[in-house]
Amino acid sequence: MDSLKIDFQKVNGLVPAIIQDQNTNKVLMLGYMNQEALDKTISTKKVTFFSRTKQRLWTKGETSGNFLEMTSIKVDCDHDTLLIKANPIGPVCHTGADTCFFEENKSKTLFIDELRAIIKDRKNNPNDTSYTASLFAKGINKVAQKVGEEAVEIVIEAKDDNKDLFMGEAADLLFHYLVLLEAKGYELDEVINVLIERHQKKS
Ligand code: AMP
Ligand code: ZN
Ligand code: ZN
Ligand code: ZN
Repeated sequence: MDSLKIDFQKVNGLVPAIIQDQNTNKVLMLGYMNQEALDKTISTKKVTFFSRTKQRLWTKGETSGNFLEMTSIKVDCDHDTLLIKANPIGPVCHTGADTCFFEENKSKTLFIDELRAIIKDRKNNPNDTSYTASLFAKGINKVAQKVGEEAVEIVIEAKDDNKDLFMGEAADLLFHYLVLLEAKGYELDEVINVLIERHQKKS
């Protein structure tokens, strides 16, 4: 990473660094680095800025413990901005917020895991009056049949161009697919492993 060519003259010695969460892709904060801060970031793998208020090197997390573990650094097209990907150890903002832009640092795909936990809960409480519990009560064949029905419905909506209706069927299909996996007692991760293995064979 010592091939980072930054035009420090152009940026008056301080290059802005956008810090992005390596997992969620959320923008966490923006800080400035001089050459020394950049070198220290690379050698310690802990994001270190030159603090304009403190007028000294500042390793983010040095007092709070909420370090930013650097995973990659890129320079932009005209060599005057850095994009740094990192894993935050805790909340990034000194206000306690996840990010300095007051966004929750959570990827929406994680909601799938929340939903799977709810589905599992419904399976374990078959007397629940919920729709999902009643699906489990009817047995695997019925659940699988529902996936088939929803698949047909999305095929029908795919022919049209009503986005709302298509989204509704896409959600129905995904939901019932997750219910079927749970009915079979399989994990979504097992399916993902199959995809990863196939991907690795290709490359
Ligand atoms: P820390 O680097 O997390 O140990 O915090 C030390 C001090 O740096 C805090 O008291 C704040 O003054 C400042 N600080 C921490 N995080 C941020 C941030 N994300 N943006 C601006 N200033 C910060
Ligand atoms: Zn630029
Ligand atoms: Zn902040
Ligand atoms: Zn449907």
